[in-house]
Formats: sequence, C-alpha cells, structure tokens
Amino acid sequence: MPEHNAADVIRTGADGAHVIDGKVASEQVLAEVAEKAGALIAKGVTPGLAVVLVGENPASQVYVGAKGKAAKACGFHSVQHDLPASASEAEILALVDELNNDPAIHGILVQLPLPDHVNSTKVLEAIDPEKDADGFHPVNVGLLAIGSTERALVPCTPAGSLVLVEKAAAALGAKLDGMNAVIVGRSNIVGKPMVQLLLSKNMTVTVAHSRTRDLAAVVRAADLVVAAGSPRLVRGDWIKPGAIVIDVGINRIPGEGLTASGKPKTRLVGDVDYPAAAKHAAAITPVPGGVGPMTIAMLMSNTLRSAERVAAAK
Ligand code: NAD
Repeated sequence: MPEHNAADVIRTGADGAHVIDGKVASEQVLAEVAEKAGALIAKGVTPGLAVVLVGENPASQVYVGAKGKAAKACGFHSVQHDLPASASEAEILALVDELNNDPAIHGILVQLPLPDHVNSTKVLEAIDPEKDADGFHPVNVGLLAIGSTERALVPCTPAGSLVLVEKAAAALGAKLDGMNAVIVGRSNIVGKPMVQLLLSKNMTVTVAHSRTRDLAAVVRAADLVVAAGSPRLVRGDWIKPGAIVIDVGINRIPGEGLTASGKPKTRLVGDVDYPAAAKHAAAITPVPGGVGPMTIAMLMSNTLRSAERVAAAK
C-alpha cells in the first residue's frame, strides 16, 4: 500500500490559510485503488465500470469523460454507453438490466440529470444495489442509515468529503469524536448521507436547510462546517475560529472581463465565502480543487469494493 501522509493534504495558501487540497487527497485515494485493483486483476477479476450517458448535456459529457479516464488509469475495464436524448425509459431500463447481468461490470453509473420524459427514480432503483456505484439505490441508502457503513455503497461526494475531514483532522491533530458538525443542506445526494457518515464518526450533527432560523448562529457553533446549500451562503464571520470547513458547492457565476473569444468570463465559487472564511478556519477546502476531485476518486473506490466482493464470493 502506498504510504500517504495526511499532512500532505494540507498546504498553506497565498493568504496564509490552511488549504485542504482535494487534488492531492484524490490522488492518494486513486493510487490506493489502482494498487488494490492490480491485486484483484492478478486473481482474475478486473474491476469493471459502466457509465450510461443519455443526451448531450455538455457538463455531463465532461463528467462522464473524466470518470472513464480515471477508471482506465486505475486499470479498470471501462465502458461508456451513449444514448440519444430521445431514448425511451424502456430502452434505458433494458440497458441497465443488461449491465446488471454482465459479470464483467461491477459498478454502474447512470449520469444525472436524465431527460424530463424519463423517471430517474425508476432508473436508479433498477440498478442492482451491489453494482450501485453512486450509492443512490434505496438499499444502499437504508444500509447507510442503519450504520452499516461497511456494507453500504456510499454516495461519492459525501464519501469524498468525509475522507477530506479525516485527513484534515489527522493533519491538525483534531479529534472527530464528539465534534460539533453542522451540515448546510439536506439533499439526498449530499446532506442526508453526510449526516450518517459524520454520525458514524461519533460527531454531534446538526442539519441546517432553507427553513432554518438564524443560520449564522447555527454555523457559529460548529467545529466542522459542511456546506452544500447555495452560492456563497456561508459568510466568513460565521466560522468559529479553528473550525474545519468543507465546501461542497460548485456554482458558476459571472467573472470579470471577456475571454479571448469575446464571451463574458465566468468563474466557479463554492457555498462558502472563501476569502473571508479562510481567515477564521483551521483548514478549508477551495473551490475548485477541494471536494470536486474527490467525487470521481470515490466512484472508483466504490467500483473496486463491488469487484472485491465478487472476488471474495468466488
Ligand atoms: P440541492 O439543491 O439538492 O440541495 C441544496 C440544499 O441546500 C437544500 O437542502 C436546501 O434546503 C439547502 N439550502 C438552500 N438554500 C439555503 C439557505 N438559504 N439556507 C440554508 N440552506 C439552504 O443541492 P445538492 O445536490 O445537495 O448540491 C449542493 C451543492 O453541491 C451544489 O452547489 C452542487 O453543485 C454541489 N455538488 C458538488 C458535487 C461535487 O462533486 N463536488 C457533487 C454534488 C453536488
């Protein structure tokens, strides 16, 4: 197993802040996955990931391309199924069924969003829970909710956020046990699974959302803030001195000036007002370069876990 030092994940930013480097952390996870995949391949099981893309959403095309590239870099068997935006729900379900029954495939990911005429819930629930690389199937949601973190395939973004929390805490010498954590956002993809993951580490967890009264006061009480709510919602002066801040948000906003081709520039921001929050936090994830790279790394990790289970059952 490659030797990784949690301290490598923290770097000092230009502003003197302790930055949690998601790129470095994701490279550490991917190196471990590739090494374990090599051991499985030697035993005759090559982890296989199938990604299904319906339609031509440019952002989805970029994500799917990056996922395929990471799978190949880990030594996986990687396949991509491109269906037209006009594909019927029945056609998508038939493809999912085919992949469920393909022994060369251990992880299936149907890229969201699906076109409006397709019932996404029905498609996600058709995926074999053992191959549910995104961890969205109710069986995996239930396993996580009852604390079976070993058996559940956990959604990739919260799983990656937890890795960053653990590495940051290890580097800072902070104890997670008993820590006050506030999660801003209660979505099924990020907020809710994050609750279970932080509880599994014995933290005291509060979930804030759009109806929370006095969000500032709730966030000010937190030793750990996980933000997945809305662009630059969490203000710098809400951050308790010494808190760890994980910013899950990815929001494209207008930038300054024009690109070389004359289009208005845009830039990515998170759900935390980074420059102000960095002054108070013990460590903070940047956007981009924080949680984002971890999501793909955890997708590889989930696929590897599914393949390891198949190999163990042989
Ligand atoms: P979502 O829109 O489903 O959920 C947003 C949540 O924020 C809701 O629960 C809502 O109650 C809460 N919220 C909204 N406004 C609020 C307010 N004013 N005060 C308090 N809470 C408020 O979003 P999601 O899918 O959970 O994603 C959250 C963010 O994370 C988005 O910016 C998304 O782009 C990003 N994201 C990043 C990755 C990644 O790979 N890094 C993956 C998934 C999502």
